[in-house]
Amino acid sequence: MPFTATPAPRLLPKPPHRRHDPPYDLDAGQRRAPRHERAERLDRIEQHLHGLGWSITDAVPSGDAPLAAVHDPDLIRFLRDGYDAWRRAGGGEVMIPDTHPSPRWARGGRRSRSPIAELGWWCFDTATPLVEGSYAAARAAVDVAVTAADAVAAGASLAYALVRPPGHHAGPDYLGGFCLFNPAAVAARRLSEGGRVAILDVDVHHGNGTQDVFWRDPQVAYVSLHVDPDHQFPFYSGFPDEAGEGPGRGTTHNLPLTPGSGDDAYLAALEQAAEVVDAFDPTVLVVSAGLDLAADDPVGQLDISDDGLEAVGRTIAALDRPTLVVQEGGYAVERLGEQVARLLDGVRTD
Ligand SMILES: [Zn+2]
Repeated sequence: MPFTATPAPRLLPKPPHRRHDPPYDLDAGQRRAPRHERAERLDRIEQHLHGLGWSITDAVPSGDAPLAAVHDPDLIRFLRDGYDAWRRAGGGEVMIPDTHPSPRWARGGRRSRSPIAELGWWCFDTATPLVEGSYAAARAAVDVAVTAADAVAAGASLAYALVRPPGHHAGPDYLGGFCLFNPAAVAARRLSEGGRVAILDVDVHHGNGTQDVFWRDPQVAYVSLHVDPDHQFPFYSGFPDEAGEGPGRGTTHNLPLTPGSGDDAYLAALEQAAEVVDAFDPTVLVVSAGLDLAADDPVGQLDISDDGLEAVGRTIAALDRPTLVVQEGGYAVERLGEQVARLLDGVRTD
């Protein structure tokens, strides 16, 4: 059964993600073990889709340029070298920041030279620990997204990038919210070389990092549906009056939803979001697919049914653009494969 009009394959490249699997994090002041964002997530999705007959394509190394087109070179260097420096300085096996500078008191605005303190400069929360293999895993996730993006650029009507850790909370010069680098943003920036790109973010959380990457970029629209930040992480962004700046003014659209919205209210809001995307008239659509919008997710609050997930996919398909779906959140680990499959079933038009 041909999946695209071109010979491009269904893409399910598998990164060496298991190297980033911290044993715990700190969530609302409590030690959470195992973490919500753990290696088993990707394994479950892969097993389920493999069982449905999806083929897996290995990622191609993407080199430094696509990553550097989104992230600060000092952040890239820190993620590459910071863990080793932390360990040499006496830091523990799990790297979690304990000092966060704020412009309200850190008047100098300068990064600490202490390897123990530096993570607090880059990371905005305590739920995103680093371990020895974190950089390798995050870097590989970027390769997967770029490989999938290149397949779409080459003519595939749909590709799915199976990645973890997720990315949409990672900005140009910061990490957090389980995210290190931002694979969807890297893919979108690369695709924007060929025309306008719209990012539709259906993760239950606002993608503050992706929003920041494209805040001033008129070539890439960011459209996000998420739980009202007054009730959900990342708490400090995702409000409707955040619309971009300068040449990017008007290309950021936030549609916050009340907790417990359910299928009907969600799909109505998604229709609005789809109209915004359609009006932007992108050459390519990138979907940040956070399955934490699903009803049985332990983190999410939107209560979308499995049928609702498929309806979300159909709305995406109706936009009728070449589409790259990038995995973001989703933490009902035992059901995650089925949830992803339902969403992709809706997106597929063959
Ligand atoms: Zn999320």
